[in-house]
Amino acid sequence: MAKMMDMETKIGRRFEGKVAIVTASTQGIGFAIAERLGLEGASVVISSRKQKNVDEAVEKLKNKGLEVFGVVCHVSNAQHRKDLIQKTVDKYGKIDVIVSNAAVNPSVDPLLRTLESILDKLWEINVKATVLLLQEAASHLQKGSSIVIISSIAGYNPQPAMAMYGVTKTALLGLTKALATEMAPVTRVNAVAPGFVPTNFAAYITKDEGVKKVNEEKTLLGRLGTPKDMAAAAAFLASDDACYITGETLIVAGGLPSRL
Ligand code: NAP
Repeated sequence: MAKMMDMETKIGRRFEGKVAIVTASTQGIGFAIAERLGLEGASVVISSRKQKNVDEAVEKLKNKGLEVFGVVCHVSNAQHRKDLIQKTVDKYGKIDVIVSNAAVNPSVDPLLRTLESILDKLWEINVKATVLLLQEAASHLQKGSSIVIISSIAGYNPQPAMAMYGVTKTALLGLTKALATEMAPVTRVNAVAPGFVPTNFAAYITKDEGVKKVNEEKTLLGRLGTPKDMAAAAAFLASDDACYITGETLIVAGGLPSRL
């Protein structure tokens, strides 16, 4: 813990003794969430498709003194999902928090020209994988456990260049409600809907200064979000501070216009 930065020492220890899995967590928003949960005391299981990325991310978090374990998991691979859950339970004995963060946006084609295979992939990774992962995890979830699904501001108003991606994120708003109903009272289920966050995934926002500025100006707070902004919201929803909140989606978008 000695290597923690000053700001990081000011955060709480809400996840002491808890075990948290974060999917797609070797960089970007997922990595920031894993780091935040770890800094707050959780044993964190990180994962993504590539072993090298998993190893590097584990190393980074271990260097910060965090309790972390890495498992390769492509979320649309059934054996990988099984491994992620089983290896977590073998190592830590239980699961308290699952953050479902993986998503793809493989096409900028208009909806009416998007290939069926792309539509299937968007559904499989962005929506179906969360349900299948939770089916695998359900018997290990503790009383008071918490699921956080990463949706998007795009879910409230799917934009033309990423319309089907946006629609999958709209589906997550419904999935959050449906899972919250089904999993209560043992497990709470909530979602975070990030605004614009400069990561690899959203490189189109930041690679052009003009586009970046336009997007900054669309927010009320005059800036893009950071992975840490998203991590703070996800950690709140996953924690007992949110113990009377379930089925909700928290928009973390600097005041971008939202709501359906
Ligand atoms: P990112 O920085 O590009 O990171 C993506 C992560 O996902 C990497 O760790 C990657 O590692 C992993 N990954 C990709 N496909 C995967 C798969 N099929 N299974 C498991 N892991 C996979 O992305 P990000 O911006 O943080 O996005 C994270 C989430 O935030 C997504 O759900 C996205 O829709 C949402 N979001 C982002 C923004 C934004 O502006 N950035 C806005 C709204 C919502 P490997 O390559 O090793 O698999």
